[in-house]
Amino acid sequence: MQFRDLKSQYEKYKNEIDNAVQNVFAESSFISGPQVKAFEQRLADYVGVKHCISCANGTDALSLVLTAWNIGKGDAVFVPDFTFFATAEVVSFVGATPIFVDVDPVTFNIDTNKLELKIQEVIELHELIPKVVIPVDLFGLLADYEKIEKIAKKYNLLILEDAAQGFGAEYKGRKACSFGDIATTSFFPAKPLGCYGDGGAIFTNNDEMALLLESLRVHGKGEDKYDNVRIGVNSRLDTIQAAILDVKLTAFISHELDDVNKVYFKYNSLLDGIVEIPIIPQNYLSSFAQYTIKLKSQKQRDELKSYLGTKGIPTLIYYTKTMHNQTAFKHLINNDEDYPVSMDLCKKVLSLPMHPYLSDSEIEFITKSIIEFISK
Ligand SMILES: *Cc1c(COP(=O)(O)O)cnc(C)c1O
Repeated sequence: MQFRDLKSQYEKYKNEIDNAVQNVFAESSFISGPQVKAFEQRLADYVGVKHCISCANGTDALSLVLTAWNIGKGDAVFVPDFTFFATAEVVSFVGATPIFVDVDPVTFNIDTNKLELKIQEVIELHELIPKVVIPVDLFGLLADYEKIEKIAKKYNLLILEDAAQGFGAEYKGRKACSFGDIATTSFFPAKPLGCYGDGGAIFTNNDEMALLLESLRVHGKGEDKYDNVRIGVNSRLDTIQAAILDVKLTAFISHELDDVNKVYFKYNSLLDGIVEIPIIPQNYLSSFAQYTIKLKSQKQRDELKSYLGTKGIPTLIYYTKTMHNQTAFKHLINNDEDYPVSMDLCKKVLSLPMHPYLSDSEIEFITKSIIEFISK
């Protein structure tokens, strides 16, 4: 059994993917080939945003946006305490200071009440200027953008939606990557829409920002890449990856997003009352980057993980460490007491195998094994 079965997906789409890649080889336009622009246009249309700027990975996507906004020393950027390292890493990378915010115990996304308290704390300290909030669409579930937008307006913050795990998710029919001022996603193979290597993208309705981001991703180009008007980076999506993603986006739209939600319903129906199951609030559609359950204690979680391991069921812990406890952020001096929820989650969460190709019998075997363990 696979945690995320990329092989089954390749076998199903082998002809289309092989053809797409062969075409790139035959045309030999490996960098910025026509497939890249075409894929960007398709993505922008799907998400419902005017511009899509693809790039080398989801981390670059985030730091390109912070660079375009001129975020740096003296600026405070608010990020959830329970996320993948990259969300906070990019803040320090551009020279700004990440301010960690505890998360909601039900959705695991940034806690909007605590966000406002942290903003007020920063204002009172007079050391940093609040500039940006980076909500994360954790495990495929959109953050609470209605509340975040109100807070951002009140304190004059920019919103950068980190939809690395959220591609395909919806709130009231509006798609992930269309929230906030600018949004980013990742095409790392295990994400909801993954390529066969690294890849990422930025989404915005702002024409000026789109031009600036296009320049920054290719050495600060002006008229062309040998006319350099600013300092940028080299962060492009390979033509081969764009060609593969084009095939995979069709599969994602036509059945994968539905199928992964069917897996969610089946898991939930078999695990309800046994362990704490993921809750998707009304009006939300998750793209289920992860299906994460919560156990009673760290001991129970760790024992369940090894029990499932002996049965050949792979599980992973997203995440074992909060952001404020990462060694790289130790110098920022944060208190565990400010982060009770994210501290607790690190002890109790367990992510089960989750992908659109998980069969009913696999789900039944996994849930049966969990029930066996719990009732022991
Ligand atoms: C994966 C991920 C990223 C980084 O994406 P890469 O393509 O691996 O650089 C950023 N934020 C979150 C929340 C992620 O899960």
